[in-house]
Amino acid sequence: MKKVLITGASCGIGAACAKAFAEKGYSLCLNYNIHKDSAQALAENLTNTYGIDAKAYKCDVSDSSQVKKMFSETGAADVLINNAGISQQKLFTDITDEDWRRMTGVNLDGVFYCSKEASKEMIKKKSGSIINISSMWGQVGASCEVHYSAAKAGVIGLTKALAKELGPSNIRVNCIAPGVIDTDMMSGFDAETKNSLIDETPLFRLGTPEDIAKAVVFLADENSFITGQVLGVNGGFII
Ligand code: NAP
Repeated sequence: MKKVLITGASCGIGAACAKAFAEKGYSLCLNYNIHKDSAQALAENLTNTYGIDAKAYKCDVSDSSQVKKMFSETGAADVLINNAGISQQKLFTDITDEDWRRMTGVNLDGVFYCSKEASKEMIKKKSGSIINISSMWGQVGASCEVHYSAAKAGVIGLTKALAKELGPSNIRVNCIAPGVIDTDMMSGFDAETKNSLIDETPLFRLGTPEDIAKAVVFLADENSFITGQVLGVNGGFII
């Protein structure tokens, strides 16, 4: 049975990915930082529904020592989904040093720490797949989200470079750049703002976590000749 470790799997896109991999018979390590109850309930539900092994594991991905402990305690993963992320809207001049460090710590350092630990075992096995969840704002930049955009652009650069380095070890590294996806991350946006985002989307709707999960499973498991790519799943918001 193949194993996937999904960071930030307590809700939203990560939880949808967990369900999609459970449907494929993977065993699951579901990382969370704060929402223990949701992560554990999801693990139990997927175990009961699909007869797979699913466990929730607490770890702040911005802390390298916690990441090392998570990988040493949960063992090697065949697939790593670097999904954990935070967002924040602020004028550039209001972003504090602390805001910057937290944003890049979770969204970029976390991808570095988890990929480093996962790839050690993948290199030994000469097999593996890493999917990084970036954002369309990492591709084109978002006003009032400079720290978020910078971190997500960093994830795209990391993906491309790591794909070149790990390809000879038969490890693929790809990236998904979601558009506007209806999750808790969007809960700070009022209906009017959401409607204006829908208006800007050629497919005229917000994305769902399942839209992203399907793309993740495709890149991780269903094609073995794609690496170093950034797949936009954004309804045409940016083309
Ligand atoms: P979400 O519903 O807010 O979920 C975020 C997840 O990340 C939660 O499971 C959260 O777990 C986890 N997380 C946050 N900080 C963490 C940390 N330090 N360590 C470990 N886990 C942590 O957001 P989402 O929309 O599903 O976002 C998932 C990913 O997609 C993020 O990387 C986000 O930037 C990206 N994305 C989202 C959108 C969108 O429109 N929603 C668009 C583009 C990209 P706890 O709550 O348990 O801490």
